[in-house]
Amino acid sequence: MTQLQNLSPAFDVLVVGAGAAGLYTALCLPEKFSVGLITKDTVSLSASEWAQGGIAAAISKDDSPALHLEDTIAAGAGLCDFAAVNFLAEKAPSCIQELVNMGVAFDRQGEQLALTLEAAHSRRRVLHAADTTGKEVITTLTAQVLQHQNISIIQKTLALSLWLEPQTGRCQGISLIYENRVIWVRAKAVVLATGGGGQVFAHTTNPAVSTGDGVAMSWRSGALLRDLEFVQFHPTALTIPGANSFLISEAVRGEGAHLVDDTGRRFAFDYHPKGELAPRDVVSRAIFTHLQNTATDPTKANVWLDIRPIPTEKIKYRFPNIIQVCKRWGIDVFNQPIPVAPAAHYWMGGIVTDLMNRTSIPGLYAVGETASTGVHGANRLASNSLLECIVFGAGMAKLELEDVGFVEQSSSEAVFKLSGSQWESQQAILTKLREQLPRLVWQSAGICREQKSLESGIAQVEVWRKEFDHLPLSKFLFNLTEAQIGVFEIETAHQQLASWGETRNLLDIAYLILTSALFRTESRGGHYRQDYPQTDRHWQVHTLVTAAKVWKSE
Ligand SMILES: Cc1cc2nc3c(=O)[nH]c(=O)nc-3n(C[C@H](O)[C@H](O)[C@H](O)COP(=O)(O)OP(=O)(O)OC[C@H]3O[C@@H](n4cnc5c(N)ncnc54)[C@H](O)[C@@H]3O)c2cc1C
Repeated sequence: MTQLQNLSPAFDVLVVGAGAAGLYTALCLPEKFSVGLITKDTVSLSASEWAQGGIAAAISKDDSPALHLEDTIAAGAGLCDFAAVNFLAEKAPSCIQELVNMGVAFDRQGEQLALTLEAAHSRRRVLHAADTTGKEVITTLTAQVLQHQNISIIQKTLALSLWLEPQTGRCQGISLIYENRVIWVRAKAVVLATGGGGQVFAHTTNPAVSTGDGVAMSWRSGALLRDLEFVQFHPTALTIPGANSFLISEAVRGEGAHLVDDTGRRFAFDYHPKGELAPRDVVSRAIFTHLQNTATDPTKANVWLDIRPIPTEKIKYRFPNIIQVCKRWGIDVFNQPIPVAPAAHYWMGGIVTDLMNRTSIPGLYAVGETASTGVHGANRLASNSLLECIVFGAGMAKLELEDVGFVEQSSSEAVFKLSGSQWESQQAILTKLREQLPRLVWQSAGICREQKSLESGIAQVEVWRKEFDHLPLSKFLFNLTEAQIGVFEIETAHQQLASWGETRNLLDIAYLILTSALFRTESRGGHYRQDYPQTDRHWQVHTLVTAAKVWKSE
């Protein structure tokens, strides 16, 4: 096999993704395994790093894993897996202790870890580090990973596709875009920790890396997926052009901020007796409906979050990052309300996994937001997702590997030739798809969905997928075999290859979300159908997807 600069052609385990799930998994894997930790950007960029509010665990005297379980199941709207939630809630306290031992500096109240209350939690159980909890966790985990000799961090490298053994269907590695080339790297086990897919929506709190790659890759390889229609929309993302829907944490409303419209009226109580503190999906729909009813152009309108009812000292202590980011965008939170609107925030659906993170494909594992472990059901309880990354990542300590015995094979180079102007016109199509697709998905599978727009959304995505398949790069890469290394003549190929890979994944997850949302003819949790506004007990089942087949679980 051709040896590429500094990159081993085989690892015991390849972990794709360096957010909380990927970093923690890599740390927990037995040290005797060689681990390749791949991230398409730098380690510092992930949704985990952006997490603000905190991480849940029943550690106070008046709390218990049983209460944590109860709250999680209530939020999940009938679709949580009891065993998975029990696993999460029971293991949470010891996992938090492990993070503290590693050096994560959660806020303290005296000697004790400080705990806050978040919506739908019946006890104070959310640990935090000011309003930058994710950053604190990721910085500590990264420092730990760097001390592990068995882990090689491979940055700016995008996983393209899974590599399955044709006879057994076992996952034996992945193809990667690495230093302007497409290469194949073997592994005895592959762990997908690629995070969510918020970028498929025009408005999202997620970072640019959240393009649903793990779900799309595993779907193309025939993995079993679940509940892809369930997306949590966060009600309060900053709506200033260029601010990338920066999240204004739920904790701000928890501490007493008011949601008001252009006339200054607190409208949330028109839609739910709990007003601003109703569940996230209810508040998101309230804002959506209110803007539909009152704004001249609801697609461009926003409401306002007034945080001045909170005592000034408390704002300064609890929300330093929010103050700073708002200030950067010209908003002085102490003197004016913040313009906000809902945005896609968390994807409950994903690759079906069991308590040992196994997927339906032998040798393939999934951890974190890309997985569907069963803990979130139809709606995620706030602060349970960082926890899921840690609790399930810890489970990888028990990984045992079969000795699959790699056979060395030689590779040849396949050179992709295209003129400068052809590269440009190809990029123009990719750019168009990246702009138009999220707008389409926001309109047809956003906060309120209905049959007609879902059907027309699917039809449009099919048209775009055909256009994508006809690109010269698509034809070249679809035909590249594992005995070939893809070589590109221009130096800037890496960027276009990455854009190609992400666009393909976004088209696939758009199709999967739209199809699953059309299939479920009821409203539940993060899925709201205007034409089926009620929850239907006959639909208290999962939506399962493999290849082109969509069906209900038993
Ligand atoms: C703004 C914001 C605030 C949040 N606040 C909270 C909170 O307070 N509490 C909480 O519990 N949850 C919170 N969440 C949710 C939580 O942060 C995420 O669900 C969780 O961090 C997901 O972790 P992950 O490791 O699965 O994915 P991520 O942290 O998103 O990491 C994904 C990693 O995969 C890499 N990757 C993706 N595709 C590829 C590919 N093809 N090739 C190579 N690398 C790839 C990315 O580069 C990245 O390193 C928040 C989310 C956001 C966006």
